[in-house]
Amino acid sequence: MSKSVFDPNQQQADTASKIVAGLERISEVFKALLWDKAKQVGLSPIQIQILIFIAYHKEPLCNVSHLAKEFNVTKPTISDAIKVLDRKKMVLKDYSSSDNRSYTLHLSELGKEIVAQTQDFAAPLQSLFGNFDQTDLDSVFKTLSELIYKLNQTGILSVQRTCMGCKFFMKDGHRNYCNLLEKELKTQDIRLDCPEFEEKSA
Ligand code: SF4
Repeated sequence: MSKSVFDPNQQQADTASKIVAGLERISEVFKALLWDKAKQVGLSPIQIQILIFIAYHKEPLCNVSHLAKEFNVTKPTISDAIKVLDRKKMVLKDYSSSDNRSYTLHLSELGKEIVAQTQDFAAPLQSLFGNFDQTDLDSVFKTLSELIYKLNQTGILSVQRTCMGCKFFMKDGHRNYCNLLEKELKTQDIRLDCPEFEEKSA
């Protein structure tokens, strides 16, 4: 039988296994925190994720196809979630910029209120990072951003908007540079979800 990262003996023998097991624990934290908020406002976790996503992303990303990729679920799952949000008058469908079967989503005033009530669902986790010094945070962030890019490259994570996958990103020795912003990108300047991101060609 192959070695499992969920086997404590394997974790003791290998730091990478411990990290993977730790990330699995943290994924449970996100689920738990999101469920707490969902119960408070009478929505499902995916409905809250959709509302928060629409609040902070540009129009071309706010449609059924992209949301399905963003959250790794099927289009029918997204459509069902949107049906509820539409019935509750939290989103508005805009058919003007495409063929009349697909639409772009916007938040209604009620949708904006729900975002204001729920968008801090990860705050308990975020507050813990205040206890780390900046060097540790930079190091964790560097590893995390590289991991997200690699997961995207291997096809496991279908959507990412990090600098490393962007057509404006340039590496010059150890220096990273953004050709759009025309500035050097230090570790803390690397973006995970850049509004200007454009995917570089393969
Ligand atoms: S446009 Fe954004 S994602 Fe692309 S390299 Fe510049 S900062 Fe990074």
